[in-house]
Amino acid sequence: MEIALTNTLTRRKERFEPADPSRVTMYVCGPTVYSYAHIGNARPPVVFDVLFRLLRLTYGEGAVIYARNYTDIDDKIIAAAAKSGEPIEAITRKFERIYEEDTGALGVLAPNLTPRATAHVGDMIALIEQLLAKGAAYKAETGVYFSVAADADYGKLSGRSQDELKAGARVEGEDDKRHPSDFALWKTAKPGEPSWEASFGAGRPGWHIECSAMIEKELGSPIDIHGGGIDLIFPHHENEIAQSELARVWMHNGFLTMDREKMSKSIGNIITPRELLEQGWQGETIRWALLSAHYRAPLDWSDDLLRQAQASLDRLYGAVLRLKDVAAADVEAPQAFLEALADDLNTPAAIAELSALVTAANTAKKPADQAKAKGELLAAAQLLGVLNDDPERWFRATFGERAAEIDALVAERVAARAAKNYAESDRLRDELAARGVEVMDGPSGSTWRRKG
Ligand SMILES: [Zn+2]
Repeated sequence: MEIALTNTLTRRKERFEPADPSRVTMYVCGPTVYSYAHIGNARPPVVFDVLFRLLRLTYGEGAVIYARNYTDIDDKIIAAAAKSGEPIEAITRKFERIYEEDTGALGVLAPNLTPRATAHVGDMIALIEQLLAKGAAYKAETGVYFSVAADADYGKLSGRSQDELKAGARVEGEDDKRHPSDFALWKTAKPGEPSWEASFGAGRPGWHIECSAMIEKELGSPIDIHGGGIDLIFPHHENEIAQSELARVWMHNGFLTMDREKMSKSIGNIITPRELLEQGWQGETIRWALLSAHYRAPLDWSDDLLRQAQASLDRLYGAVLRLKDVAAADVEAPQAFLEALADDLNTPAAIAELSALVTAANTAKKPADQAKAKGELLAAAQLLGVLNDDPERWFRATFGERAAEIDALVAERVAARAAKNYAESDRLRDELAARGVEVMDGPSGSTWRRKG
């Protein structure tokens, strides 16, 4: 299957051709582990998880190597440790675990590699030494800086000119750099802060050098795909490119907004996956909502979006529940569905195909057609990372506290039918219908789902 991806570097949708189809490499910038990730931070791991699944289907499970890092040394982490009095490592390990739990709840597969910045400081020092040796960087009092003036290509990813860059933002404590856009590769050690010895002076690494060093060490550059959120294009990825020619395809997902405003910790309009799970939303519902827009488009987050996502998943689970006594055929996801995903990860089109599969599953009459429809539905859902739940448990979970009542009514109705009390059984069916529940009687007993 031919995959096309939009490359931020060339600003075109291009046919994807890995340098070595038996070793496809992908790196996505991971979290800075000092607090809970918000729902906007959850978009890249979910989006690139779908790409990971598609690449594994296309090139083979063992042929794709996906790395996602942990930034475990950074100003914000040092500030969080100073505030709470906990050691830095206690904070970073705790939030790594929380990040893995939260992304796991959203059905995100574990990447093959999850390198930590602090385990690669030696590699970063070596890379900085190379940059100093070739005159691309210089040493100042406050640190070692990359010199954008020495790089004629600087700005090529974000499309910014050298003139625009001259107006770059001032960074506190970096008064001795030569150009406002020069960025810190290394920050000179300060009392009370963690530091590492280096030939150019003790200190700690800047953020951008991390990913370059880890990509080189863990995957070998240039890699096939480098991904992240759109806010990373500048300066993070622009700076990564300046340091080393890292990747052939650069992919960026759009912003998540809340009431049309960019979601960010500094504005305070954030919600975390953890809070949504605690409110009773299912992980798959959150995942579906994140995939409901094309990854490059902005997505406006709301409870309405979540309700629509749950209704769509109800339809999927309802179809599987209806066919619960049918063994799924061992088939692949249909071509139209795969083509939608292969076309620059067009998840809205893939979701529309999935909806057509639900209709096919609901209307299939012959056992062979039912088995095929169920098999295709499950295979396609697997690529989007949904339908991993047991359908009965799904409806119980999404009905929350009301599920136990519904179970009791369904059991009463089963008893009434067994006693051939059809008037009572019909009354109970109507009562369940009034609660938005449809009962389905099959050879293996009675089940229920939310009415469509
Ligand atoms: Zn990065």
